[in-house]
Amino acid sequence: MASQEIEALASALARLPGLGPRSARRAVLWLIKRRESALPQLLVALEHVRAGLVECSVCGNVDTSNPCGICADPRRDARALCVVEDVADLWALDRARLFTGRYHVLGGRLSALEGVRPEDLTIGRLLERVQAGGIDEVVLAMNATLEGQTTAHYIAERLEDLPVRVTQLAHGLPVGGELDYMDEGTLAQALRARRPV
Ligand SMILES: [Zn+2]
Repeated sequence: MASQEIEALASALARLPGLGPRSARRAVLWLIKRRESALPQLLVALEHVRAGLVECSVCGNVDTSNPCGICADPRRDARALCVVEDVADLWALDRARLFTGRYHVLGGRLSALEGVRPEDLTIGRLLERVQAGGIDEVVLAMNATLEGQTTAHYIAERLEDLPVRVTQLAHGLPVGGELDYMDEGTLAQALRARRPV
């Protein structure tokens, strides 16, 4: 029987994506064994994340400044906008270092099953950004899942009447593939071979 403290930590960790109760217990054990070496470092990192991070009011990225480093960087091409489902996808694409424009984070994807509607995402804000002008190309970089593609089609339709070129990642991406899990070469390839919607 584990102590209350250990149980509390295990159940907090078990809520992390990709970590079930079993892995959470293993992680707790790992941390207990290293509570003098690894734990202080982890605590500092967690506190920095808690205290220092904000959501970018322009693109939805998470960073230490608002606007985020990408939105504020004058070397980035303001005429190209890449639309992603989540911040993790933005980070994955930016790691591939091929896209030099800016981003827009939707905050999820449309899903009839989970009851996610267009107004639950930042699609309205995306349309406002495009309507404000100065953007030539919108790259739809949704995941190659059914819901990702439904979302891409919906956005492409909403952008139809605006003076902007709409492209989509080439799906050398495996069907069902999520951007965050792609290696950088595959992502770069999909971006390079993007095509009009
Ligand atoms: Zn930003």
